[in-house]
Amino acid sequence: MARLVMKFGGTSVADPARIRASARKVAREVEAGHDVIVIVSAMAGRTNELVGFVNEIAPFYDAREYDAVVSSGENVTAGLMALMLQQMEVPARSWQGWQVPLRTNSAHGAARIMDIERDAIEAKFAEGMRVAVVAGFQGLSPEGRITTLGRGGSDTTAVAFAAAFGALRCDIYTDVDGVYTTDPRICARARRLDRIAFEEMLELASLGAKVLQTRSVELAMRYNVPVRVLTSFEETDDGSGTLVCGEEEIMESRVVSGVAYSRDEAKLTLSSVADRPGIAAAIFEPLAEAGVNVDMIVQNISEEGRTDMTFSCPIDQVPHAERALNAVREAGNLNFAELSANTEVAKVSVVGIGMRSHAGVAARMFRALYDEGINIKVITTSEIKISVLIERKYMELAVQALHDAFELEKAG
Ligand code: ASP
Ligand code: MG
Repeated sequence: MARLVMKFGGTSVADPARIRASARKVAREVEAGHDVIVIVSAMAGRTNELVGFVNEIAPFYDAREYDAVVSSGENVTAGLMALMLQQMEVPARSWQGWQVPLRTNSAHGAARIMDIERDAIEAKFAEGMRVAVVAGFQGLSPEGRITTLGRGGSDTTAVAFAAAFGALRCDIYTDVDGVYTTDPRICARARRLDRIAFEEMLELASLGAKVLQTRSVELAMRYNVPVRVLTSFEETDDGSGTLVCGEEEIMESRVVSGVAYSRDEAKLTLSSVADRPGIAAAIFEPLAEAGVNVDMIVQNISEEGRTDMTFSCPIDQVPHAERALNAVREAGNLNFAELSANTEVAKVSVVGIGMRSHAGVAARMFRALYDEGINIKVITTSEIKISVLIERKYMELAVQALHDAFELEKAG
């Protein structure tokens, strides 16, 4: 029997009525002859609430207990989804991560999946069960503790199950009906893409188009699992969504596929650091150890052997970055005049596999920003994306201007 993975995000399981609507979609696939593995998120808002409780009690918490707390939201929805399916006379049961088990490493709060044991679920399918409902976002460490996979991790659970069980496809049900050229809340002319390449989606996901967790896309690309993003809200669903797939399966040719943004960025500058070998390592090794996700990096031209080093990271990691850098300075391993943080910046990026074979994309981007009077603070590029750091108050304007400049409202 063909296997299908269906993942329901927080808004698709937000209350019993939403769970019912989602369960109906599962029942339909069962009727169509599929055996289904359902992966559920916690009810919308639940994980944030749990994280809030943890932070209130212990700002520098024991990550094992953080995971014990924040993984619990998914346990509730897994059980409720199984109950709802049983009410619809679909043979279903729930699994928590440790019961499968889905094994991870010990990196609490951002654990990596090592292995999914299939035997227990396969045995139940063989007995006539049609739906395995699995709590997303969680796993079991080698030490026997509960781990979580990082925020948005249920997407990664879903793709991992699709790969492990050889599923036809991994359908991700969310509150949007697909992947758009940009965020429709910011740009009314945003258009839904029928297809998008894994690599483009990877850039869009990591750039803050919060549709899919980045690691889920990495995994889908590695195992070539087609992922469909669609909505569980019947009213707006035409059933198609966006297929995230291999580049070779995309016919339309376009230079830029999307404009992404990331609102909560911060820019940190270390002024007057020595310009000598080893200085970048002295700065970025402690940041890495502190778990700071450094994104853009610029080193100025040096004057009299000293230079400024600027980097960006998510705004909520600024305290960790400051602590780490002040600690190396106190230990005498790094010398700088000042560490300043600008928390009023945002990142805007254009992404497209077509950039590989087209010149002039950067020029067009910079011209569009200039026409709006937007100043660029930092620029980075890769083969298929160009990103700029700008003042946060211009972020919406920049996204709209770039969407227009690359004519993304028109189908490729
Ligand atoms: N509930 C978790 C979160 O909000 C995992 C997920 O929904 O993917 O991050
Ligand atoms: Mg999500």
